[in-house]
Amino acid sequence: MYSPRIAVIGAGPAGLTLARLLQINQIPCTVYECEKDRHARTQGGCLDLHEGAAQQALRECGLFEQFMAVARTEGEVLKIYEPNGTLLLDEGSDIGERRPDSFKGRPEVDRSQLRNMLIDSLYPGSLKWNHKLKAVKTDPSGRTAKYDLHFEHHVETGFDLVIGADGAWSKVRQLITETRPFFSGITGVDVKLSDIDTLDPALSKRVGRGMCLTLGSNTSVLSQRNGDGCVRSYGFMRLPEDWHKTCGIDWSSPATAKKQFIEMYYDGFNDDAKNLILKADDDVVPRPMYMLPVGHRWGHRQGLSLIGDAAHLMTPFAGVGVNVAMEDALDFALKLKQWKREVWDKAESSAVSTLALIEPVRQYEEEMFVRAERYAKETMMYLDLFFHEKGGSAMCEHFAKAKEEEKKAAEMNGKDSPAVKPSAEEIVV
Ligand SMILES: Cc1cc2nc3c(=O)[nH]c(=O)nc-3n(C[C@H](O)[C@H](O)[C@H](O)COP(=O)(O)OP(=O)(O)OC[C@H]3O[C@@H](n4cnc5c(N)ncnc54)[C@H](O)[C@@H]3O)c2cc1C
Repeated sequence: MYSPRIAVIGAGPAGLTLARLLQINQIPCTVYECEKDRHARTQGGCLDLHEGAAQQALRECGLFEQFMAVARTEGEVLKIYEPNGTLLLDEGSDIGERRPDSFKGRPEVDRSQLRNMLIDSLYPGSLKWNHKLKAVKTDPSGRTAKYDLHFEHHVETGFDLVIGADGAWSKVRQLITETRPFFSGITGVDVKLSDIDTLDPALSKRVGRGMCLTLGSNTSVLSQRNGDGCVRSYGFMRLPEDWHKTCGIDWSSPATAKKQFIEMYYDGFNDDAKNLILKADDDVVPRPMYMLPVGHRWGHRQGLSLIGDAAHLMTPFAGVGVNVAMEDALDFALKLKQWKREVWDKAESSAVSTLALIEPVRQYEEEMFVRAERYAKETMMYLDLFFHEKGGSAMCEHFAKAKEEEKKAAEMNGKDSPAVKPSAEEIVV
């Protein structure tokens, strides 16, 4: 029976979800990951997985119960503060109450928990660590449509299908399109305040159980509680791409860097907002945010494709990146599964079957381009709301308007309008 040789590059949420889905559908594949092992670096903050897309992917993976056992539904709540400490929005325990209903049903999970769950679900030996891809090359003899993978230390040959799930700076993408990510206009620092409950219980209470945004005019502190007791904060604003090199901040001394950063950009912010950065651990990472063009697409190339950030890198401001990535994986796997059943399993020669790889991948790409463009537009809209000259009131006005439209639509459809309960604290706008 024909079985194409498939490589997935990158063991992030997209690559691991895809590999799991292919393997449980008897489509063998190997994942190649550049990191040395699963502990090579801390995985960063947490992610909210949405109903319908990412959660459906986990259901298909047979991992949904495992996910729900570690997911934090209470982490979905949102608070928005003005720089002077005025609370503009507090969902209290009423998740999604002040935002459109689409924000409900998005439990948070720590990245490392999600990643470990997916890694442990793969066939033993099918994830190869310490394989840093340098380039994908066509068969040098020119006689086959196969690809060779050039890793840092060796070459592996003869792949029928190479799927780039290798994130923002994808090497696989280089063979498919000349388009490269560009700077989004937003940069700043990424910090983590460990064990906040012990270090500063009052600050911990201020953050709450989920996301806590302090939004000034074009300048923000975006904080999020993680499952391990830390709060991760991003001090983001509109600045030039090379800001971290030209700003004069002494990055070699984290304590000095935090102090300089706050003094330079957070005039008018109260101590609580400042302390989320000043009291953070001594590890300050400048983080310029990049994106691919909204509506990015390419002409299909046989035997190659992209999923996740490699295909449609977005800034994180709509909180959809990992959700689109896992939806890509689900969709890709379903397309291959259908073609396996209908075409490959019946094929008499591998040449016919290799050509038959084109159609499911092309179908996946056409649907993914439309989906990714929709999410990329939403992301751009939220970027403008996070970094608005009116600060947090712009975001609150947006939510109030969207809520009102939802209510009207429900009334027009003859349904009961969603109950509007007063939140624990008064909305100011
Ligand atoms: C600061 C920040 C906050 C975010 N917050 C959210 C959020 O709240 N919600 C949300 O939905 N999304 C969020 N995102 C986006 C989300 O992290 C990504 O969309 C998601 O991780 C994409 O998954 P991926 O598997 O496509 O790529 P990645 O997670 O980037 O994984 C790519 C993998 O490929 C490996 N790799 C890279 N190059 C190579 C190579 N040459 N050879 C071999 N392996 C390679 C990497 O080591 C990595 O393991 C955030 C992003 C950032 C930067």
